[in-house]
Amino acid sequence: MYNCGPTVYSRVTIGNLRSFLLADLLKRVFSYLDFEVLQVMNITDVGHLTMTDEQKSKLNNPEITDTEIGVDRMEKAAKRENMTVWEVAEYYTKLFLEDIEKLNIGLPNHMPKATDHIDEQIVMINDLISKGYAYVTKTAVYFDTSRFPGYGLLAGQDLDQKAVAVRDDVEYDSTKRNPADFRLWQLNQPDHSMQWDSPWGKGYPGWHIECSAMSLKYLQQPIDIHTGGVDHIAVHHPNEIAQSEAATGQKFVNYWMHGAFLTVDGKRMGKSLGNAYTLEDVALRVSNLLALRYFFLTAHYRQVQNFTWDSLEAADKRLTLIIDFAKTCYLKSKGETKGGKIISVLEKKFREAIENDINMPIALAVLSELLEYEAAEKDLLVTLKQFDQVLGIIDWEEIEKCDLGMLNEINEKIDERNRLRNNKQWSESDAIRDYLFTKYLVQLEDRDGVTTWRISSTND
Ligand code: AMP
Ligand code: ZN
Repeated sequence: MYNCGPTVYSRVTIGNLRSFLLADLLKRVFSYLDFEVLQVMNITDVGHLTMTDEQKSKLNNPEITDTEIGVDRMEKAAKRENMTVWEVAEYYTKLFLEDIEKLNIGLPNHMPKATDHIDEQIVMINDLISKGYAYVTKTAVYFDTSRFPGYGLLAGQDLDQKAVAVRDDVEYDSTKRNPADFRLWQLNQPDHSMQWDSPWGKGYPGWHIECSAMSLKYLQQPIDIHTGGVDHIAVHHPNEIAQSEAATGQKFVNYWMHGAFLTVDGKRMGKSLGNAYTLEDVALRVSNLLALRYFFLTAHYRQVQNFTWDSLEAADKRLTLIIDFAKTCYLKSKGETKGGKIISVLEKKFREAIENDINMPIALAVLSELLEYEAAEKDLLVTLKQFDQVLGIIDWEEIEKCDLGMLNEINEKIDERNRLRNNKQWSESDAIRDYLFTKYLVQLEDRDGVTTWRISSTND
């Protein structure tokens, strides 16, 4: 599986994180279903000209063909932060890795950086030139889209439909043979900070070629699954297909999966649109960062999901309840899962949900059923652990920090309280209830003459 990764020019937004969560979910789902997964996600650390979100939003033609206009986000960030582009890339790659770890997004098997694979990209471009799929001009090495039958089919476009002038104030490179041709290697831009020698002169690779070159290095072709955000359907992915299939003569990808956007007030969340949040913003509003992960799971990956603080806070509350349930089951099983059995009726439903195009909202509904299910605590616990292999919303180390030593005291206090209640010593018995809640977050419940308890972070 190949996942198009981040451009490391600033901290990722939670919109970006939603698309990386899709990659993580796929890996977890396939592992759950006993597939072996080899996962590659690239790090785009070469700056490229890309339209800003603001520029994109001004376009009246959403089928953008020429993305190689606008600003170089890496160069801009370097100026803004008074760093070199190399420092920018290193700094934001580190932040990216920290952010995904906080969301329980697992590390891929390989995370190749574009700058570490310049040779591979040059080899592939050379190959494309020698096979007649690419040509050199004074501006760049271009992929000749007219030579690749079926170019743009992924997006349902054909060449005639492609618009040329995207914006009046944008310069159109007249050395291109066809409007849709795209850059494989940029030449003659001495002001660009990253430059490498190449057979065509000093320059730097185009954006799309890194994914073709690196996926060829690390994965057998055709790749089973390739992911990215829906914005890659129009340009980036058709270009990857063209490069890879032209170079290898083989099918590039069997299944494309695209994650829908996270929006704010119905508009895509994007950095330059001024409506973007990062994990730092989220941390100020929730008790547990994994609430964001839970929130993402409440929508199907192909559905646009609208972000509001209210819905995030609701997710946070719901997750707290689930964690309390996990702690209760853990304590009542005395920390022992041996002998626990996965509840098969629920597991079957859960499996069906994830097998059905990763339907996480349904999987969460099955989780809700588990929270109400009558079964031995050990069985509830192992079933929850099983589901969490995919969900990834529980920090099990935290659960296992629960002090089993409290069990004795809880039982003693419950016995003592029952004696007091039999003697109608209500205020003393209430004091014990308060004590257990204050000390252990233990809530008592009296039903049919039997007192049970559970962990509850909220006193309701
Ligand atoms: P970038 O770093 O700009 O290349 O974006 C990284 C990934 O995030 C790409 O796969 C984009 O499709 C995706 N992305 C950008 N904005 C959003 C959003 N608002 N919601 C979901 N995914 C997004
Ligand atoms: Zn890509």
